[in-house]
Amino acid sequence: MQGSSRRKVKIVCTLGPASNTPERIEQLIRAGLDTARLNFSHGTHDVHRALFTSVREAAKRTGKYIAVLQDLQGPKLRVGKLAAEGIQLRAGDEVLLFPEGTSPIASTHGRIPLPISAEIAEPLSRDLRKGSKILFDDGKILSQVKEVIGCEMVIEIQVGGKLTSNKGMNLPGTPLSLPCATEKDLKDLKLGLDLGVDAVALSFVRTPKDILFVKEQIRKTSNHSPLIVAKIEREEAVYAPDGILEVTDGLLIARGDMAVELGAQKVPVIQKMLIRMCNQLGVPVITATQMLESMISCPTPTRAEASDVANAVFDGTDAVMLSAESASGEYPIEAVQTMSKIILEAESEASRYSVHQQQVPLSGSLVESIEFSASRIATHVGAAAIACLTHSGTAARTLAKYRPEIPIVAIMDNEASLRKLAFCWGVEGILIPELVATDDLFGMISRVLLENKRAELEDYIVITAGLPTVGRGTTNAIKVHQIKAVRGPARSSPL
Ligand code: PEP
Repeated sequence: MQGSSRRKVKIVCTLGPASNTPERIEQLIRAGLDTARLNFSHGTHDVHRALFTSVREAAKRTGKYIAVLQDLQGPKLRVGKLAAEGIQLRAGDEVLLFPEGTSPIASTHGRIPLPISAEIAEPLSRDLRKGSKILFDDGKILSQVKEVIGCEMVIEIQVGGKLTSNKGMNLPGTPLSLPCATEKDLKDLKLGLDLGVDAVALSFVRTPKDILFVKEQIRKTSNHSPLIVAKIEREEAVYAPDGILEVTDGLLIARGDMAVELGAQKVPVIQKMLIRMCNQLGVPVITATQMLESMISCPTPTRAEASDVANAVFDGTDAVMLSAESASGEYPIEAVQTMSKIILEAESEASRYSVHQQQVPLSGSLVESIEFSASRIATHVGAAAIACLTHSGTAARTLAKYRPEIPIVAIMDNEASLRKLAFCWGVEGILIPELVATDDLFGMISRVLLENKRAELEDYIVITAGLPTVGRGTTNAIKVHQIKAVRGPARSSPL
């Protein structure tokens, strides 16, 4: 049973008004959604709670193990409430930025309130200097700081435009000392932990400390341990990712804010650099933003967008992400179907065009040696699958690092860990009841694969496991097994 049309690169879909009903979410899953992203830059706790419940229910109905990724807003700066028609800014205008709810002490021509608490206002005014750049609305409006007076800033507009309420602000070139997790983020995180989200993305990560701080908050307040995904968008993180990669469980290449902070021309090279670094360490990486942007209002993508998705596949990404396309666009289902088709097409030619480099195992790591060897053996014997018996999922994630052509099937007795593989390249999961010691371990695995149509009689499979299985030890065994007639049900449910 060689060869597979199963997609390896996973799809992350942001949920929103265009995808907030249980029926829509089920359609998205059937179209190819692997991970649902809840974007905490928008929406109330009630909205996110309802989305979370709908995802879990739809996943059950479809028999899939779908991850929920909570994306925390982080210290994203936005302008506050402006007149309904917005304000027209012209080159040369001087404008005052001040914390919303305070009475500005400086008086200038125009005023822009910022919805920031003292927790943000104080470090922000310390970090900004005369000449610092401030961009508005995804970089469409450019300005420069003329003067900082207490927590207020006088700016001079260099490239004007119409500014409306809530538009984003970026401060390229200014190292920021803002907290990575704001008070809002910590409240949102508490909700995520109470709900039991599978992963938490941190926005505007700058240093490893940002991740360690959030991991510590989670450890102190909850028994639940979601994966932590570092969103890379700030210059500090882009040019010093090594330390971040040592402590994070996953990376998200946030190309939207990155392009505003660093310039769009830098993004393709940074994408390749970050994907390569993640691949070398076996850290799952998600490529995000504007992948099928035109599908927000059109049922087909542009050629450039199709190329963008395919190129992320060739670069070696683990997952690709839809933002407004699935959250607020007119064609959310079509966007997922389109993304899936582009990925499959690219994967069918990946052996020819992929720039992903063959990885070598870290010396001294048993699980790396086993999974690297399993990947080689499976190709040599033309196995139908590599069955990875794993409790935490580490073995399957490690195997994915070697990008085997043979399908990876993670056989697990822990549903929460299985869901966490939903943005890891190539891993399909099968849930089994509690893994108990059995003399017929290989027979049990054969039955599971047959029952879930991952292999056929007489097929070779390569099995990796930590033996004895009851001790949940480290992966230490490889078995090449030919499936013969097997007896007895395996009682498993497919991914
Ligand atoms: C981005 O900036 O590309 C991104 C994914 O972050 P957000 O959608 O939170 O702005």
